[in-house]
Amino acid sequence: MDINFSAQDLEFRDEVRAFFASEYDAKVAESLSSGQGEDYKEAIVAWQKKLHAKGWIAPGWPKEYGGTGWSVTQKFIYETERGAAGIPDVVPFGLKMVAPVIYTFGSEEQKAKFLPRILSSEDWWCQGYSEPGAGSDLAALNTTAEYAGDNYIVNGRKIWTTFAQFADWIFCLVRTSKDVRKQQGISFLLIDMNTPGVSVKPIPTIDGKHSLNEVLFEDALVPRENLIGEQDKGWTYAKALLAHERTGMAEVADSKRMLANLKQRAAAEVNGGQPMIADPVFQMRLSDIEMQLMALEYTELRVFASMAAGGMPGPESSLLKIKGTEISQSIHELQLQLAAYYGGALQGDLSNQQLGHEFAAEARKSYMYGRAASIYGGSNEVQRNVIAKAVLGL
Ligand SMILES: Cc1cc2nc3c(=O)[nH]c(=O)nc-3n(C[C@H](O)[C@H](O)[C@H](O)COP(=O)(O)OP(=O)(O)OC[C@H]3O[C@@H](n4cnc5c(N)ncnc54)[C@H](O)[C@@H]3O)c2cc1C
Repeated sequence: MDINFSAQDLEFRDEVRAFFASEYDAKVAESLSSGQGEDYKEAIVAWQKKLHAKGWIAPGWPKEYGGTGWSVTQKFIYETERGAAGIPDVVPFGLKMVAPVIYTFGSEEQKAKFLPRILSSEDWWCQGYSEPGAGSDLAALNTTAEYAGDNYIVNGRKIWTTFAQFADWIFCLVRTSKDVRKQQGISFLLIDMNTPGVSVKPIPTIDGKHSLNEVLFEDALVPRENLIGEQDKGWTYAKALLAHERTGMAEVADSKRMLANLKQRAAAEVNGGQPMIADPVFQMRLSDIEMQLMALEYTELRVFASMAAGGMPGPESSLLKIKGTEISQSIHELQLQLAAYYGGALQGDLSNQQLGHEFAAEARKSYMYGRAASIYGGSNEVQRNVIAKAVLGL
């Protein structure tokens, strides 16, 4: 097998590099790192609009709906360059989660109405799956949708809804039948967040940012035309979406960038007269993560290649989710170890100390938020159950 890039691939890589260098400037980067307020929304939407104008917003979509038509190698190059340039991934809820459900299971009207607005980032989507009593056991959900006339009347409460405060639309799993096996009475509804009866309550998190919310539905009327596919068949569509979500969670390119930054930092930090990177224990941990990341990268490529050969990702996406989140959490831990140096006596001039404290504060925040990665998208314990049943057939 030849794993070198062809001349065309290298040309493509240069084009991607040049585009990122000219369009993702310091101003965009600064607005994006400012936090998760309205500024953040504005900045990420503006960046996504640039990608859309270039035709690069949806590499994973089929070409007929607005995808790029790239080969697996081109997708790999694009992702690698994005990560290396420190550019955040697109917001996944519209582009990577509900869109594949709409173009695979939606009606022609739904495709025409929603897909162009997702591509252009005109609509911000959020995910209404989890409920207070339904997380790992998602099929236990209780938000109801009663069919009446041309509408569903929706009542219930969703929780942990990321970025609901920004969202124009929410895709929701709702219960439409009760006297059947719990997976069978679920439907997949698209709900306009401006519908009377829909409200959002913030949930503060340990990193001091606001990304999580509760979404409440009180007699919210949702037109029947917003039902995806058939009533009571939502579980099938929900599972397809989760496989897409989990495949995207390997985050190899982002982990590679974090690791490169970590190495740079470790080469600069002096502890006991030598740089941290020369410390044998630190080195061992670093190389262990590097090897795991390389193995994950090749596994991800194999999954992408099999997806390119036909359709939706399967339960093997759970493997990517587990390994990807374990690796990013190990990197966060190592960052924290490096930053712990600043918890001790201060050395050097004040400007360096200042830089060190900034690094330590960032390391602490990413460690804390990073703990959530093995929970969201379905906890890693539950992913192991999925692998046992659906992949190993146990
Ligand atoms: C930062 C963040 C963002 C999120 N964003 C969204 C969002 O946008 N939309 C959305 O719908 N949801 C979202 N979630 C919710 C997320 O999907 C759930 O938290 C997750 O599925 C776990 O459910 P739970 O919190 O109810 O925990 P529980 O299901 O109560 O699990 C508690 C613990 O028990 C373990 N456990 C449970 N069942 C089993 C089992 N059968 N075998 C072994 N172990 C088990 C779990 O692994 C976990 O450790 C988000 C969560 C977080 C933390």
